[in-house]
Amino acid sequence: MPVVGFHQARRPRQTPMTRLRRELSWPRPGGVLVSLVGAVLVFGGAMALPASEAGAPSPAPVSIPSTTPDTSQEHAEPTPAATLLASAPATTAPSSVSASGVSGATITPSAASAPLVKGAAPDSPIQKLFAGGAATPTDKALLDLANPASTLVLLNKRNPLVPLDYTPKDLVAPAIASGSGESMLLRSEAAAAAERMFAAAATQGVGITVKSSYRSYATQVGVYNGYVANKGVAAADSTSARPGFSEHQTGLALDIGDANAGTACDFTSCFAETAAGRWVAAHAAEHGFLVRYNPGQEAVTGYLPEPWHLRYVGVAVAQDMQTRGIPSYEKFVGLPDAPDYG
Ligand SMILES: [Zn+2]
Repeated sequence: MPVVGFHQARRPRQTPMTRLRRELSWPRPGGVLVSLVGAVLVFGGAMALPASEAGAPSPAPVSIPSTTPDTSQEHAEPTPAATLLASAPATTAPSSVSASGVSGATITPSAASAPLVKGAAPDSPIQKLFAGGAATPTDKALLDLANPASTLVLLNKRNPLVPLDYTPKDLVAPAIASGSGESMLLRSEAAAAAERMFAAAATQGVGITVKSSYRSYATQVGVYNGYVANKGVAAADSTSARPGFSEHQTGLALDIGDANAGTACDFTSCFAETAAGRWVAAHAAEHGFLVRYNPGQEAVTGYLPEPWHLRYVGVAVAQDMQTRGIPSYEKFVGLPDAPDYG
């Protein structure tokens, strides 16, 4: 259907590439450890499960890095095989607990032994989801909002990537229709999910194209600096993510277009009214993607609505958010709003 947009007047020098960028943040909860809920009583010798993730909360000071790559911040990246498996059975990892000093005790999977999400608020919906046994990753290091290799990583204007110049190790070219001249890359798990999502839309007569996907730190430096040179820092920050703050740098985000609606609504709010925009709003979660920047969430996410920007978080998280009607990832993980760089 023809779509009438109200953002069709483009800014000078704005190209599709320069129109995509978004990031999110919040004081990196690097030191906030989530207390394991409850303990397991074992007959014959009461004991509590070792609360490996528990500890005295010691919030790390908020630090907003400059746009200079800070390679001093190391962050080990788990192997691709350790990526979150959203469909993983809830009880596949009853990790045998060494009940030292307790003979005959058998520890069974329970809420107390369920992995919880490091960096998320203790009573947040995401904690409840994982404490309930859903979507257990094989590598517990991936249950960490600050881990750039995790599909759960939280990025916004107060939570940059660590390190700022992080590069994913498992980028692949998804077999999906491209709507731009860019070479398209996504992390392998997100790429496979995107392929399934695009195919599902096609079966319902909705044509989706990808307009932008992975963008490197270096690419974002060029994009952001271009904005700063033309418009100044304040204007640049309103439309372009600073390098290291873009979800696109994670390899988990993509911007889409409607294959049958022309380009007038590309990267504009009227994209929400296209067939592709409406379809992803309803169905992206089934494939593990969020429409990350929703109307009314500007003060939370730091960005105007972007109905074209999808972020992969896995099916379990995406569907839980949709079911609960939670409009921002910040709220789902229970962290403070990130309206600006602080
Ligand atoms: Zn985007």
